[in-house]
Amino acid sequence: MTFARLPRTVVPHRYDIQLEPDLAASTFAGEETIDVTVCETAAEIVVNAADLTIRSAAIEGHGRRWAGSVEMDDATERAVLRFREPLQPGPWRLLLKFSGVLNDKLRGFYRSTFTGDDGRQGTLAVTQFEAADARRAFPCWDEPAFKAVFQITLVVDDALAAISNTRVADVRPVAGRAKKAVVFAPTIPMSTYLVAFVIGSLEPTEPVQADGVPIRVWAVPGKGHLARFALQVAAFSLQFFREYYGVPYPGDKLDLIAIPDFAFGAMENLGAITFRETALLVDEASATHGEQARVAHVVAHEIAHMWFGDLVTMAWWNGLWLNEAFATFMEVLAVDAWRPAWERWNHFGVSRAAAFLTDGLQSSRPIEFDVVAPKDAEAMFDVLTYEKGGAVLRMLEQYLGPENFRAGVRRYLVTHQFATAETTDLWKAIGEACDQPIPEIMDGWIFRQGYPLVTVEAEGAGETIRFSQRPFRYLHDGEGGAATWHVPVTYRARVNGEVIHGRLLLSAENGRVHFPGRPGWVVANDGGHGFYRVHYGPELLRSLLDAPRGTMTPIERFNLVNDAWAESLAGTLSASSFLDLAGHFTEESDRNVWTPLLSSLGFLARVVPGDLRPPLERLTRARLSSVAARLGWSPRPEDGELVRELRGEILRALGTLGNDEGVQRAARDRYDAGGEMAVLDPNVLAAVLTIVAHTGGEAEYAEYLKRFKAAQTPQEEQRHLRALADFRSPELVRRTLDLSLNGQVRTQDAPFLVRDLLMGVHSRELAWAFVKEHWAEMERLYPSQSGLRRLCEGITGLVTPGLEADVREFFGGRSVAFGGKTLLQYLERLGVAVRFREREEASLRAYCEQF
Ligand SMILES: [Zn+2]
Repeated sequence: MTFARLPRTVVPHRYDIQLEPDLAASTFAGEETIDVTVCETAAEIVVNAADLTIRSAAIEGHGRRWAGSVEMDDATERAVLRFREPLQPGPWRLLLKFSGVLNDKLRGFYRSTFTGDDGRQGTLAVTQFEAADARRAFPCWDEPAFKAVFQITLVVDDALAAISNTRVADVRPVAGRAKKAVVFAPTIPMSTYLVAFVIGSLEPTEPVQADGVPIRVWAVPGKGHLARFALQVAAFSLQFFREYYGVPYPGDKLDLIAIPDFAFGAMENLGAITFRETALLVDEASATHGEQARVAHVVAHEIAHMWFGDLVTMAWWNGLWLNEAFATFMEVLAVDAWRPAWERWNHFGVSRAAAFLTDGLQSSRPIEFDVVAPKDAEAMFDVLTYEKGGAVLRMLEQYLGPENFRAGVRRYLVTHQFATAETTDLWKAIGEACDQPIPEIMDGWIFRQGYPLVTVEAEGAGETIRFSQRPFRYLHDGEGGAATWHVPVTYRARVNGEVIHGRLLLSAENGRVHFPGRPGWVVANDGGHGFYRVHYGPELLRSLLDAPRGTMTPIERFNLVNDAWAESLAGTLSASSFLDLAGHFTEESDRNVWTPLLSSLGFLARVVPGDLRPPLERLTRARLSSVAARLGWSPRPEDGELVRELRGEILRALGTLGNDEGVQRAARDRYDAGGEMAVLDPNVLAAVLTIVAHTGGEAEYAEYLKRFKAAQTPQEEQRHLRALADFRSPELVRRTLDLSLNGQVRTQDAPFLVRDLLMGVHSRELAWAFVKEHWAEMERLYPSQSGLRRLCEGITGLVTPGLEADVREFFGGRSVAFGGKTLLQYLERLGVAVRFREREEASLRAYCEQF
């Protein structure tokens, strides 16, 4: 079947939609009036509709009214409406009555359930329309370019709350029934995927005013007190973005709504943003730094979309990256401005590293590619769209200068507000604002997969530094060898006792910089924002490792470690050389630099054969002992949030990867002390839970399960749930696997649990057998994009040649429900890890046995 977009002979301008959900019966009834323009004589009107029954269709205009016939086409998710005579050009009004089902698949118009603080079961009716599921709630032109005004009316029980994109304009009693009709103000012209309505016994906070816009958080009863933090971030972000964009907030109010069952992290419906609970509700006193930062980022991200995405929207799904990359970039900018001490741009290095990982695969893809059907766009919600996209925008911003970049963004928004735009429109606006040929620089980053490895070497007497580029790949297939990018290389060098900063747009394979003397050291990717890896020649690397630690900034040290690790995975640096390099960082005190150091140790633990694990544990203890001794178990008054977070990470790694009995005992003592747990630093407490699970048995398992079910905050619930995957006895692994399907764990969470079990050395074989046996059931139950895709990431942990072969055979004949290249990428990552294991086993053995 070939996909064609909806004909443009008839276009909508305004929808008046009335919906009446029946929460008990899981159904809804609706009617809508759509003002359309018929652009040329039309024999039929084609709209999107899926899983709906259209009960009647009629058209009014030109002094006539005709009833119409409806022909549904399930395969194309369309309805064709025909009337007695062809419709003449001009304005018409289409009237439709329809009904549908509130589904359990977390898409379209769906049901979410919860247990209230009074112990009673509650149900919500919720929408999630992006990319193309508005058609499951009302017949519509379900493509982003068909912007229209929406006026929504929700008919609900008197006792229930009803929320939509705009403020409530009127509430009318429904005669003779215990119901009310809640009428919302008309929206700005916007795309169907941004329409939202939520109905149920939700409670709002008092509004916080930001720039005259009332902001509220909605949650199920009993959770409203967890909204304070999100309200602060939201108020700050809204004002920050209004100033940055130079355009007022495009809505008339802002509601942030916590939904107990939610497939994604959050959804940027204009004025009515929906979230999974962990991304919105948090208790600052008991949350870890990471848990708080997550809420701050998701809230800022979604609010950034109110302008970039909602006010100006991509014309078609190929431009999705523009929405998401930009919101990712803006979220970091806003949170960094809100809490500078959190160093979020340094942390963004960790996100960028995830994009480097996927984009170094043969099975990567360009950020932007042709999207024919909207379902192809669903495969775009990945690390390349968000993190690579955000990273290349940051690189461009730093290259042009933040003021120039912002001027271009403002120009873009003002030019295209209330309408749609393409990638080229953004480049045009930025290019005009700063007089630079942006497409020439950016096209290679956007329309081609992969990125360069820039090699930095001294030439001649050492006064000339040569920069050369080639594509970085983990596996070498001989392809793409000659590709080059326009790489905005920044560098810093110490020459004749002075520090020199410079930049070079490396467009060919090689470029040279001549210094007035032989540099003592050279740091390439000065500032750390570039989307490329750096390889230093041996002397230059030596000079950097021997220089005082403060010579490189934390993000530069992060890049040095992370790039070396990537080279090790790619086979151009031996594992033992990498471990030597990592050994220079035992005194490291930066939280972000420790991320690749710890994750490489975690990777090695999954890769090495069982007999090598004890020496690897000794190596891990040796590497962490110094920083652990310095940090101890209790925060010092001078510790910032990043130091507190690092303490938790180091203790967790020592107690699990390092199998450190002293740390395990100390964690156990704190756990046994019961009441004292509450006074522990939250970062340490979270680590204690993991360590106790790692060494725990039946009794602890039962306690965790109980605490998961009785948790007071979403974070406490998630910590106990996810820690269930850390228990190591086969019997407990089996019980956790059963939980993933027996209805005790929400389908939004279960896939993460299974993924963790697939990644665990102790659990992966049982988990893989379970996944194979229950695949059909998982496919049926879990949301496909967000759920199955997450679950399958776990196969990258099945790092033995036997398991790899089995995984390939299993997926060989199957078509998976999440589109795009995601599965191929997981399989390739597994392949990279297995090749690493085969290549490095002997040298790792020799290396670890020193410990
Ligand atoms: Zn987004």
